[in-house]
Amino acid sequence: MILGIAWSYLSISRGWSGFTLAWIDPFGEIFIRLLKFIAIPLVLFSIISGITDLGDTKKLGRLGIKTLSAYLFTTVLAVSLGLVLVNVLKPGERAPEEQRITYRIQYEQWAESAGVPIKDGKHFLHDPAYADQVAAATGPTESTIPDFVREKADLARNNPNSSPLQPLVDMVPSNVFGALVDSSMLQVIFFAVFFGIALLFVPDQKVRPVKHLVDGINEIFLKMVDVVMQAAPYFVFALMAGILVKMASTTGELWGIFSSLGWYALSVLAGLAALIYVVYPLLLKVLVRDIGYRDFFRSISPAQLLAFSSSSSAATLPVTMDCVRENLGVSPQVASFVLPIGATVNMDGTSLYQAVGVVFLAQLHAVDLDLAQQLTIVLTATLASIGSAAVPSAGLIMMMVVLISVGLPAEWVAIILTIDRPLDMCRTVVNVTGDTLIASVVAKSEGELHFIPNKPIDNLELNKNDR
Ligand code: ASP
Repeated sequence: MILGIAWSYLSISRGWSGFTLAWIDPFGEIFIRLLKFIAIPLVLFSIISGITDLGDTKKLGRLGIKTLSAYLFTTVLAVSLGLVLVNVLKPGERAPEEQRITYRIQYEQWAESAGVPIKDGKHFLHDPAYADQVAAATGPTESTIPDFVREKADLARNNPNSSPLQPLVDMVPSNVFGALVDSSMLQVIFFAVFFGIALLFVPDQKVRPVKHLVDGINEIFLKMVDVVMQAAPYFVFALMAGILVKMASTTGELWGIFSSLGWYALSVLAGLAALIYVVYPLLLKVLVRDIGYRDFFRSISPAQLLAFSSSSSAATLPVTMDCVRENLGVSPQVASFVLPIGATVNMDGTSLYQAVGVVFLAQLHAVDLDLAQQLTIVLTATLASIGSAAVPSAGLIMMMVVLISVGLPAEWVAIILTIDRPLDMCRTVVNVTGDTLIASVVAKSEGELHFIPNKPIDNLELNKNDR
């Protein structure tokens, strides 16, 4: 990873970007594709095999309730932490006053034209004190909004969920193969759980071959992960080099990305760090006890590194499952049930980032959000993080939904676009870490955590050992 960053710096400063994009970056893409195509069948077969191994549906119901409530708990905790941080640090209020007034006027112009009530009841637009700035403000910054942001914003506005139960409806596939082809993780999980339960109810002599087949296929996919991961260090180099070269064409630009939105990025990073270094170790200590946080981090570090370089919990899932089973000693049944659901449903990093992002954007536009509006953010950011796909930038797109739900323009996300990728990398690490923590908590409560201290970890280099 470090070599990849160094290489991208050299490429950008020496003009080798073309070479890097043509000859190095494609290997990063191949790596992600390899992991992605393994992820969906792995989820399918590991859930079915996990459920049939559980042997009874009572235990499954218990696992389901524990898993979902634990996920909800950590997500709400993350959003609340984000809100506290952004209200204390006030990153949006650190922008120059002039710029904030211009932004504010543009917001009011937008609200008037969109027929949306102004959040805090203030009116700069018709206040003679701001007449000069109003004359200078050229309407909402349409020209600076990239096309895809405008398209997504239109989609989010015109497609309000027809019923509050729509997410539930969306979980149920109308065509199983369609769900597999579209990689709709929640639909695949739904099908796998249903299939596994039905399998439990059919007399054993009739379905024994099916069980053996599913177990066998599951083992093959796990082996494929091992094989791919043996080349991971090379792939990760290519991935990092490619991402950074695509982000900036000059070193000044690269620096600009990191410094322009500094306070906002710092607030997000502070929140993510607090989750990883304070909240999770505390939960680990209270709820798991027998794993120290050093051991915990060492065990899942391959998954964290991959989450950072791929920005995708879904692509990381095969490795997350490997680490949790092999290094943390979580039973395969618990791991294969808790982790695939976590990859899509539990995104603590994303929900924290959405809360910080929305309030930051409001502060930047000098819009005051009251407590009720901030509580709406808690609710919608929780739902939006559940609804975010586990792929790069999904959280950014879903932030538009949060903005719309509190009556703010979805196009605002264009402002934080430039710095989104590095933050995405970091929040994905938190998303994956949160899933592994809950897997250990659930396994512990079921008596299915068999952590062996000081066992050499099955990591990127060591997994040549046979499992
Ligand atoms: N990239 C994140 C993930 O896959 C989702 C997001 O926040 O964009 O976990």
